[in-house]
Amino acid sequence: MTIREKAPAYAAPSGWNALLPKRIARERVSGERRFRSVVVGAGYTGLAVARRLAELAPGEEILLLDATTIADGASGRNSGYLLINPGEPSAGAAGFAGEWAVRQMALVQAGVDWLRELVVTNAIACNWQEAVPAITAAATPRGQTSIGRTRERYEAWGVATRDYSAADLRHIAGTTYYRYGIQSLTRALVQPAALHRGLADHLPTGVTLLENTTVRGLSKTTPFKIETSRGDFVADRVFVTNNLHARAFGIGCDRMVGIYTYGAFTPELDRHQLALLGEMPEWGILPAHRMGTTMRKTMGRLLIRSGDSYERERDPSAVQAMLTALYRNRFPAMRTHEFEHVWGGLTAVTHNGAFLFGEIRPGLFVSAGCGGAGVTRGTIQGKLLAELACGVPSQLLSDRLAQNGPDWLPPEPIRGAGAKLQIAWEQWIAGAER
Ligand SMILES: Cc1cc2nc3c(=O)[nH]c(=O)nc-3n(C[C@H](O)[C@H](O)[C@H](O)COP(=O)(O)OP(=O)(O)OC[C@H]3O[C@@H](n4cnc5c(N)ncnc54)[C@H](O)[C@@H]3O)c2cc1C
Repeated sequence: MTIREKAPAYAAPSGWNALLPKRIARERVSGERRFRSVVVGAGYTGLAVARRLAELAPGEEILLLDATTIADGASGRNSGYLLINPGEPSAGAAGFAGEWAVRQMALVQAGVDWLRELVVTNAIACNWQEAVPAITAAATPRGQTSIGRTRERYEAWGVATRDYSAADLRHIAGTTYYRYGIQSLTRALVQPAALHRGLADHLPTGVTLLENTTVRGLSKTTPFKIETSRGDFVADRVFVTNNLHARAFGIGCDRMVGIYTYGAFTPELDRHQLALLGEMPEWGILPAHRMGTTMRKTMGRLLIRSGDSYERERDPSAVQAMLTALYRNRFPAMRTHEFEHVWGGLTAVTHNGAFLFGEIRPGLFVSAGCGGAGVTRGTIQGKLLAELACGVPSQLLSDRLAQNGPDWLPPEPIRGAGAKLQIAWEQWIAGAER
């Protein structure tokens, strides 16, 4: 199979990654060309697959390939929320009843727990924070009603939450923009690029990571021939964990679309400006609508994430103007509304929120289709995919396998027209939550 679309390339680097020292990519090709397992894509999902394979098969060398440098892809471009949301109603025969949601949350919680353990064991400096307020907040009456319903669902699932009044939100975050909030299902907040780099730099010795190595072709049957920008490799098993870019291998082409969303960081703010962002040194706000705006006060800066565009990255100056307006609306009193870093990131979106997961052909394993919550969900799915390949059963794996796959999507141009219409409609509905 020859690649039909390009590996990811972005208009600007991730602000999170830019705050870290320059990374020297691992580009050394070992003499070995044949491996039992090759993993394609070293985001959170691919790192988890490679790590777990190495744990389950000590002594075996695993090759992990990525087209870019670690933390340059979506895994280093996100907002750093470690969420346990059960996701869209995409469960299998069990439907989306309370018990199912509880099991889904347990699955993603296992991803959080594994990440925490790795951060502690390897002393990964990624600003891991569990006590910071991470609130889902509404700016509109419609958003407030929606959050109220979410709160009821949490209660039905037995999840403790708490309310935040407009005054609480003003105290915490310094803005009068929001009228009501509830504690979100965020279990930790991190510096995502630092976490991603830390995980890559502490892979078990059995894993050989090659960055700046694009997979350009993949044969259909085992042993797989993997054509890359650094020559060919052969493997008995291939794990496709490059998310949306799995489409390049003919996987999920009629199941996933690419949606870009955008982030920006202010410069480091002085004491006076930080005080205008509320009394808490760090906080996170998630929107009441999925087309809304996410924010964080972190590391002496404000982070803002918003906007959605179909399959194509928007012009950086238009993105900057959009994010600046959203920042100004929420914090009119700031001295400037300047950003130091503005970037885009690509995620995979499926119609029903479900993922491609499993062994789709003998020896070919896939976990793809990750939109939001990919830090935790990608991590646990990667771990479970390795366990599936190695025949390690568990309740979590059964729960994961019991889910439906993504719905079929019509071909272009109907698909694009439908997606763009839906984005425009939902943005309109989101109103001031944007
Ligand atoms: C702005 C933004 C904010 C977000 N906020 C959050 C958040 O707060 N919390 C959260 O959990 N999620 C968030 N997400 C989503 C999250 O980043 C993704 O769900 C997650 O990165 C998916 O991980 P992954 O490993 O499956 O895929 P990716 O991170 O996309 O990794 C895939 C890797 O495959 C590589 N690749 C692609 N093609 C090839 C090829 N042909 N050969 C070799 N390698 C290839 C890419 O370079 C990439 O490194 C956000 C995303 C964006 C863009």
